[in-house]
Amino acid sequence: MEPSAKPEPKKINLERVEMSKQAPEVRRQNFDEVAFGYTAEEAMAEASRCLDCKKPGCVANCPVEINIPAFIRAIKAGDFAEGIRIIRQKNCLPAVTGRVCPQEEQCEGGCVFAKKHGSIAIGRLERFLADWEANQGESMQNVQKPQVTGFKVAVIGGGPAGLTVAGDLIQLGHSVTVYEALHKVGGVLVYGIPEFRLPKKIVRREVEYLKNLGVEMVENYIIGKTRTVDSLLEEYDAIFIGSGAGLPWFMDIPGNNLNGVYSANEYLTRMNLMKGYTFPSVQTPIKQHKRVAVIGGGNVAMDCARTALRLGGEAHIVYRRSRDELPARLEEVENAEEEGVIFDFLTLPTACIGNENAWVTGLACKKMELGEPDASGRRSPIPIPDSDYVMPVDAIIYAIGNSPNPLIPATTPDLTVGRKGNIDAEEATGKTSKTKVWAGGDVVTGAATVILAMGAGRKAARDIHAYLQSLPGK
Ligand SMILES: Cc1cc2nc3c(=O)[nH]c(=O)nc-3n(C[C@H](O)[C@H](O)[C@H](O)COP(=O)(O)OP(=O)(O)OC[C@H]3O[C@@H](n4cnc5c(N)ncnc54)[C@H](O)[C@@H]3O)c2cc1C
Repeated sequence: MEPSAKPEPKKINLERVEMSKQAPEVRRQNFDEVAFGYTAEEAMAEASRCLDCKKPGCVANCPVEINIPAFIRAIKAGDFAEGIRIIRQKNCLPAVTGRVCPQEEQCEGGCVFAKKHGSIAIGRLERFLADWEANQGESMQNVQKPQVTGFKVAVIGGGPAGLTVAGDLIQLGHSVTVYEALHKVGGVLVYGIPEFRLPKKIVRREVEYLKNLGVEMVENYIIGKTRTVDSLLEEYDAIFIGSGAGLPWFMDIPGNNLNGVYSANEYLTRMNLMKGYTFPSVQTPIKQHKRVAVIGGGNVAMDCARTALRLGGEAHIVYRRSRDELPARLEEVENAEEEGVIFDFLTLPTACIGNENAWVTGLACKKMELGEPDASGRRSPIPIPDSDYVMPVDAIIYAIGNSPNPLIPATTPDLTVGRKGNIDAEEATGKTSKTKVWAGGDVVTGAATVILAMGAGRKAARDIHAYLQSLPGK
């Protein structure tokens, strides 16, 4: 008799399914999105790598606690509607977070495959489901309206923190109005992150979703100028402040007032929100610089350099440490390198240099070397004597950080702020020192990430809801 054949072990596709993107030489000529996203077949192949762990490290690392294994199971089964339904229970901006979250540090960092073979591409799968949903064009009509409570909440700032609060509270039956200072809701998602990383139509889609749920959006409305927090309190039962960290930092060096010196905020707002790059079809021209120095090494610096490149200039990243210490996401550094951004590592700017008409002509710099690790664990840069030189450039962009704008604290009595101007708020609830006022996102933490802002919004929404439930009904 033939020995019984051993069953074939179940094969798991170990290697990550790559996502196709525009070739570097093509994409550096346009502002279209760099990455194309997975097809349904690619998404199902990638989902099939998931081991569906009993104690999923991915969920533990997700600030908004999405049931990641469940949505991946749904993709594996080809049930995309169920997949997006699971995500939307916890995340009102999946098309955004699927694109810009630092997944390698969060969900994907907790994956058992992270060290070998590459973690499951959770962000790409999330993006796939959100884009699939958008292509169905149905989801917004399917939303069930909750019973109306009669309570009114004002949200200050239409960034990820404010939009999360709005999305969570409207679904609990409260009436929500978002007040946004700029002419478009979305926060950094529309004025900061460039079109080639996060197309504006995607943010618009997510904002429309909230509007369909019943959230009222009031644009061009600056709280602290058009109306104060105290005046809002006369009309609303609770207020959430999610006004972000939009006040740019500059180095204390000569020449900052020259023409051609920008903050990243100004440069990116002109380019992204005001679409300077499509002039003359929009009336917001931006100067086309030939050689641009971007000071900084984070995501914001990469965005500025890659934008300058797309405008036809040569773009330099000037960073005082080495490549290993760059705070930007590796994916963005690699994208910038592929596109031709030039990295000037171990370089410290010492002055902005200008001509007789006060236009920038160069950036004076000093070369550095790395010394011992500092308090942050990163090796500190030390100047090399007699290494000064001038880099010829016609624009300098500061991308070294931001802090919250002082307008709201300055016009709101009883609201306490920390040393750097951040509003003090309890981490677990977002409660501030002022009764009926909550805060969260960058205005509390300083410049951080989209998902952390959303996580803070979620906690505050939960606490605001608990507070409203404790009040006599309306
Ligand atoms: C260029 C750039 C690239 C980035 N890239 C990434 C990335 O890849 N991944 C990532 O996770 N994070 C990234 N970040 C960080 C991330 O975008 C922020 O951490 C996040 O947007 C913070 O959300 P928020 O809601 O707290 O604030 P914001 O997004 O800043 O939104 C605050 C909103 O409040 C409005 N506002 C301010 N003051 C008032 C007022 N007085 N009245 C009414 N409205 C007001 C502002 O106009 C703004 O719309 C990036 C940031 C920048 C600048």
